[in-house]
Amino acid sequence: MSAATPLPAQGRPRDEVLADLQRFAADDPDYKAGRLWSLVYWLDEAHDDFLGDAYQAFSSANGLNPTAFKSLKRLETEIIATVAGLLHGTPEVCGIVTSGGTESCLLAVKTYRDLARATRGVKRPEMVLPVTAHVAWFKAAEYFNVRVRLLPLDAGLRPDLRKLPRLINRNTVMLLGSAPEYPHGTIDPIEAMGRIAQDKGVPLHVDACVGGFILPFVEMNGRPLPTWDYRVPGVTSISADIHKYGFAAKGASTITYRNLDLLKHQLFVYEDWPGGVFASAGILGTRPGGAYAAAWAAMQHFGEAGYRDLARRTMEAFDRMRDAITAAPELYVMGEPSGPLLAYGSRDPQVNIFAVGDQLDAKGWTVNRLQKPDGLHAMITAGHLGVVEDYLRDLREAVATVKANPALAKEGSAATYGMMAHVPLRGMVREKVRDLFVQMYKAGGGEVDLHAAPPPQGRVDALLEKAARWYVERKQRRG
Ligand SMILES: *Cc1c(COP(=O)(O)O)cnc(C)c1O
Repeated sequence: MSAATPLPAQGRPRDEVLADLQRFAADDPDYKAGRLWSLVYWLDEAHDDFLGDAYQAFSSANGLNPTAFKSLKRLETEIIATVAGLLHGTPEVCGIVTSGGTESCLLAVKTYRDLARATRGVKRPEMVLPVTAHVAWFKAAEYFNVRVRLLPLDAGLRPDLRKLPRLINRNTVMLLGSAPEYPHGTIDPIEAMGRIAQDKGVPLHVDACVGGFILPFVEMNGRPLPTWDYRVPGVTSISADIHKYGFAAKGASTITYRNLDLLKHQLFVYEDWPGGVFASAGILGTRPGGAYAAAWAAMQHFGEAGYRDLARRTMEAFDRMRDAITAAPELYVMGEPSGPLLAYGSRDPQVNIFAVGDQLDAKGWTVNRLQKPDGLHAMITAGHLGVVEDYLRDLREAVATVKANPALAKEGSAATYGMMAHVPLRGMVREKVRDLFVQMYKAGGGEVDLHAAPPPQGRVDALLEKAARWYVERKQRRG
C-alpha cells in the first residue's frame, strides 16, 4: 500500500482478494519449515484451519460488554478457571482474557499503581524490575508514569536478590519476576522474591507470558522446576499468554490475580458519558470474540495430554540444543535456562557471536540477537524437534567459518553491534532509532531500507545499524 493506493472504485471478487493476501505472505519468514526461532508458535495446517474455524464463528462477536455476549463471558470464565488451575491457584483466583502479553503486563502495572494510590496514598509510584524483565514492562512504566528501579543481575545472570530489599521503598507499587525471563529463559527466584515481597508488604507479579502454557506441563512430565506460580505465597498475580505455547490464534493472553480485591483496581468506570454508563475490565474497548473462541478451542482440543506431548517434544529439542551448545568449545549457554527458550554466546575471542548469527541467516535461519552480554536466541517449539539437528549442524559450520574468517566480525549485524557498543550516549541512540522507526509509519508507508530482507523479528536491528553509522559518521565529521 502507498498513499497512491485508493480504495478500489469497485469492490473486487473475494477470491482475487484472498489470492493477493496469499501472495503478500510469500516474503514472510519461513516459520512453517521451522526456520524461524521466535515470533510464531506453529503446529500444522490442520491446526491453523481449526483455529480459523473457531475464530470465524465468533469473529463478529464483541466481548466489550460481558452481559451482552453470554457465550464470550462463558469462554472467558472457563479459560480463566482453567488457567487458575494450571497455576495452582485457589478458587479465589480470578482474571480476564486480554489481547496479548503486553496488555496483560500493562494492566498489572496500572492495577498496582492504582491499588497503591487507593490503599497507601502513593503519588510517585515505582516498581522493581530485574534487568531481564520483558520490554513490555518498560513500556508500561512509560505509559503509566511508574518509575523503574532496576534490579541488576549477578554473575550467573540471575536477579541479584541481595540488592532487592534496598530498591523497595514506600513508593514501591509492585515487584516483578519472570517464569522464565525472555532473554535467557531462566526462571527468576520467585520463592525468594515472594518472601521479600511479603516481608515488605508489596505485590509480586510473575510474568509467565511465555512460560505459562508450557512450564506446568513440563513439570507434569516429571522434570523438576523451581516453584513460581500461586504455590508461592507472595505471588499476587500472573500473566500467561495463550497465543504462545497455548497454540491459540494471535490475540489471546490472560492476567489472573490472587483475589478480587486486587483485580478490582484494574477496572475502569465512567458514569457521565453521554453514550451511557461505561465499565471495562481491560485496555481494549471492542474485544475480539474470535480470539477468545480460538483460545478456548485450542485448550479444549489439546487438553492436558496434548499440551504434555507438545511440552515433551519441545523439551527434547531444547535439551539437544542446550547439550550441543554446551559441548561446543567456542560457545556457552547463558544463565540457567529451564526451557523452552535459551540464549548462547561465544567464549572464544576469535568467534564473534553476531558473525555466527549472520552465517546462520545466510543459511536461511532467522535468529534474534541479544546484547549485554552479546548472544543469539532461540525460542524452541515442538515443531523445531524435526530441524534441531540441521540447525546444530549449520551452527557448527557457522562457528568454523567465523573462526577461519575473523574479518566477518566487521560486516553485517556483527559490525552493527560492534559499533553500537561504542556509542556512549544511549539517549542519542534512542532518539535516532525513534526517528528512523517513525519513517516507516509516514504517510504511504515510508521507505526505510531494512537491508533487502524483511525487518528482523520486529525488532530494530537494522535501524540500530543505521543509528550507529550515523553516530560514527558524525563523529568522523567532527574529527
Ligand atoms: C512475549 C512476552 C511478553 C509480551 O507478550 P506479547 O504477547 O508479545 O505482547 C511479555 N513477557 C514475556 C516474558 C514474554 O515472553
